[in-house]
Amino acid sequence: MTTPTNQNLELKTIVDFCRRKGFVFASSEIYGGFAATYDFGPLGMPLKKNIEHSWRMHNILTRTDMVEIEGAIFMHPKIWEASGHIGGFSDLLVEDTVTHKRYRADHLIEEAGIMENAGALSPEETDKIISQHNLKSIDGHPLSNSKKFNLLVKTHLGPVEDETSVAYLKGESCQNIYLNWKAIQETTRRKLPFGIGQIGKAFRNEITVKQYMFRTREFEQMDVQYFVKPGEEDTWFDYWKQYTWDFFVNELGVNPNNLRWRQHEEDERAFYAKDAWDIEYHFGKMGWKEICGVHNRTSYDTDQHSKFSGQDLSYFDAVTNEKYNPYIIEVSAGFNRIFLATMFEHYKTEEVGTVDKPDLRTVLNLPINLAPFKLAILPLMKKDGLGDKAQEIYKTLRKAGLSCDYDESGSIGKRYRRQDENGTLVCVCVDYQSLEDGTVTLRHRDTMQQSRASIEDLIKLG
Ligand code: ATP
Repeated sequence: MTTPTNQNLELKTIVDFCRRKGFVFASSEIYGGFAATYDFGPLGMPLKKNIEHSWRMHNILTRTDMVEIEGAIFMHPKIWEASGHIGGFSDLLVEDTVTHKRYRADHLIEEAGIMENAGALSPEETDKIISQHNLKSIDGHPLSNSKKFNLLVKTHLGPVEDETSVAYLKGESCQNIYLNWKAIQETTRRKLPFGIGQIGKAFRNEITVKQYMFRTREFEQMDVQYFVKPGEEDTWFDYWKQYTWDFFVNELGVNPNNLRWRQHEEDERAFYAKDAWDIEYHFGKMGWKEICGVHNRTSYDTDQHSKFSGQDLSYFDAVTNEKYNPYIIEVSAGFNRIFLATMFEHYKTEEVGTVDKPDLRTVLNLPINLAPFKLAILPLMKKDGLGDKAQEIYKTLRKAGLSCDYDESGSIGKRYRRQDENGTLVCVCVDYQSLEDGTVTLRHRDTMQQSRASIEDLIKLG
C-alpha cells in the first residue's frame, strides 16, 4: 500500500485558490451562484484546453486506430429508452419529512461511516439501514422511505409543451457514438478493432452537489469507445486499463501513489456493464474518489439501438464471413473531476526561506503540456523604456502563437510569485541590460534559478 502525497490538502484550499486566481468562477456568481455549475476563467480555460489536447493526443491523434466525432446534445427521446436511462438511470432519494428537502440515500449512509458503496443497496436494504441507524436529514428531521429519482434532465422542444415535445439533455455523452457507429465504420472503411473518441457534454440532475467540481450537473465526458470482435474483449479491456492509467501518469503528471483501481461489485455495476473498473484519485482530505471508469459494455448498446430503431447495426467480418454486433470497451473520464484532480496534484506550498526569514511559496507545478502560459514577460520597471521593450516582445510572441502572459504591476519578486501560482514555466524579465545587449533574464518556476538568453532566441521559439 502506497501513501498518497497530498494527505493534508483540503478542498477549501483548492476552491479558494481557483477563485482567487481566476481559474474557476461559480456560474452566475453575482446572483449568488447557481448550484453545481461553474465557469472556467482566463487561467482555467487554457488549462482546460491543454488537458483536452493532451487527452486527444494520447487517445486519438497519435494513434492509427482511433477517429473522433462531436455529437449533438439533443437526441431522439427514444434513444434514452433504448439505452435504459429512462428506466434505470436513477438514484435512491429520501425526503426530509419536515422541510421536504431530498437527499441521496447512499450518500447519507456513506457519510455516516456505516459502509462504502451504499449505491449498490436495494431500496429495502437502504430503508432498513436508515431505520436501524436512526439516520436523520442534515436539519435533524426524520426521513421518508427511499424512492427512485431519474437523473436525466428533461425539457420540451418546439411550440407545444406536452408529452410529444419532451426531450432530454444527454445523460451520458457516448450515445451519439453508438448511434453513428455503423455510419462511421462504413464512411471511414475501418475494420475491427478500432475506436471512436469524443469530448462531449453530459447533464445529470444530481441531488448531492456539495463537493465543488467533483459532482456537477453539467460536465464534459472524455470518452473512448473501442469496438472489438466478441471474444477479444478481455484482452482489449486490460489493454485500455493500462493505457488509461498511463494517461494520468505521463500526460497529467499524476504521482501513481495518488491513483488506484477499484473494481465494481456485481450488484453495483451499471446495467449495461459486464465488468467495470474505476480509476480513483486521492483528493487530499476528501479521500479516494472515482475520476474515470473503464467498462466492458458488451454489445448492449448496439443491440438495444438495433431493436428500438429497427436498423441493422451489425458488422460484417470479411475474414470470417460473419455478421455480429461488436463488443464495446468504454473509457469514460469526467472532465471536471480530472481538472480538480490536476489542481490537487500540482498545487504545492513550499518553504523557500531561512529559519530567520521564513518564506512560504505557493506554486502550481503543472507539466509543460498543461501550463496555461509557458512564458510571462515582465519589465523590471515600467520606466526608462523597459515597459515599451517588454510590450514589444510580448506582442511579437503572442502574434507568433506562443502562449505568454504580461505583468507589470508590483515588485518583480511579487510578480515571480504570482506567476508561480499561475503555473507559468518561465518568467522573462526585461531589465536595463536588455536595452544594452538584447538579452533578458529567464527565471525558472521549479528551481527559481535565473539565467540569461537573447531576445532573438526567445522570438525564434514562436
Ligand atoms: P458517480 O458514481 O460518481 O455518480 P458514475 O459511475 O455515475 O459516477 P459514469 O456514468 O461511469 O459515472 O460516468 C463516467 C465518468 O463521468 C465518471 O468517472 C466521472 O468522472 C464523470 N461523472 C459522472 N457524473 C459526474 C458528475 N455529476 N459531475 C462530474 N463528473 C461526473
